[in-house]
Amino acid sequence: MLKTPAWAASSAGKKLAPFTIERRAPGPTDVAIDILFCGVCHSDVHQARDEWSGAMFPMVPGHEIVGRVSQVGAQVTKLRVGDLAGVGCMVDSCRACEPCRSGTEQFCEKGVAFTYNGTEMDRRTPTFGGYSTRVVVEEKFTLKVPAGLDPAGAAPLLCAGITTYSPLRQWNCKKGDRVGVVGLGGLGHMAVKLAASMGAEVTVLSTSRSKEADARRLGAHAFESTKEEATFKKLAGHFNLLIDTVAGAHDYNAYLGLLRTRGTMVVVGVPPEPTPIGAFSLIGGNKRLAGSLIGGIEETQQMLDHCAEHKIVSDIEVIAIQEINEAYERMLRSDVRYRFVIDISTL
Ligand SMILES: [Zn+2]
Ligand SMILES: [Zn+2]
Repeated sequence: MLKTPAWAASSAGKKLAPFTIERRAPGPTDVAIDILFCGVCHSDVHQARDEWSGAMFPMVPGHEIVGRVSQVGAQVTKLRVGDLAGVGCMVDSCRACEPCRSGTEQFCEKGVAFTYNGTEMDRRTPTFGGYSTRVVVEEKFTLKVPAGLDPAGAAPLLCAGITTYSPLRQWNCKKGDRVGVVGLGGLGHMAVKLAASMGAEVTVLSTSRSKEADARRLGAHAFESTKEEATFKKLAGHFNLLIDTVAGAHDYNAYLGLLRTRGTMVVVGVPPEPTPIGAFSLIGGNKRLAGSLIGGIEETQQMLDHCAEHKIVSDIEVIAIQEINEAYERMLRSDVRYRFVIDISTL
C-alpha cells in the first residue's frame, strides 16, 4: 500500500482537513498518477455535506483529476510513465454488461465505482478522490490529456466538460443550430465554449446581467436576462437545443416555450426539488425534455481531443488546498469564474 497525503471531510459538513489515505500498489492493468491539479465540482460540496444522503466518511472529494503518470502495470498500453493523464467521475465498472460494452460505463448495470464517496467493484474498498497527491486507477478508466492543453485548465473538462459535451453530441449540435445555455456557471461556461466550437449560434440565458460581457468573451453570440419577462416572449420558439445547467428552482415550462418544433431541452443541473411539467409544454411542437449524465470513457477521450483541437480549457481560479473550505463557501455564493482548481503541490 502507498501512503498518500490527502484532504478529507471527517463527517458531514465538517471542514476539510489534512488526512492520510492508502492507495493500492499498481496491479498489471493499473496506472499510478501523481496528481498535479484537481478541479472543484459543485457535487464535491453537496457530497461533503451529505446533501444527497448516503455519504461515506472520511471523504476525499475530487473527480476532475489531471496528473503525470508515475508508474504503469506490465499490461498497460494506453499510457507511459511521464504522460499527462486524466481521471474523471468513474474509476471502474463491471466491464461486462451491455452499457459497459457499448461505451456508456456511467450506466453500468452493476453500478460504477465512483471516483470518491463510493467503493471499488469489490463493494468494500472505499474510493478516494483527487484532493490527494496520487491515485491508482485501472487503465481503462484513465484518459490521455493531449499535449497543448494547460493541465490546470484541463482538469474541469473531466466532469464539467464531458457533462456538457455529451448532450451537445447526443442531440447533434451543428453549424447554424440555435443553442441556448441556461445558467452561466461551471457547467454553463463549458457549454458555451463547446457549442460555439461546434458552429452553433449560442445564446446565454442568465439571471445576472453582470455576466453579459463574460458570455460574449466565452463565445456566446447573444445574452438574454431571464429576470426580464420580455425575454420569454422575444425568444419563444427560437432554439433547437437548450442545455439547462441551473441548480436552483426554476420553471421548466417557461424554457420549453423557447424551443422550436421538435426542439430538445437537456437537463444537466440538479434543482433540489421536483419540478411540475404541463403536458402541453411538450405536446405543442413535439418537444423533448431530456437528461444527460457525464459520458462514457471513449466519449470523454473524444471530448478532450476536441478541446485540444479547438484550444478549449476551463476558465479557472487556481487555489492552494488550504483555501478549499473558503472556496466551498464562495461557490455557494456563485463567487467563482468559473471553476476552482486545486494546485495539488500545496498539499
Ligand atoms: Zn463533477
Ligand atoms: Zn457494467
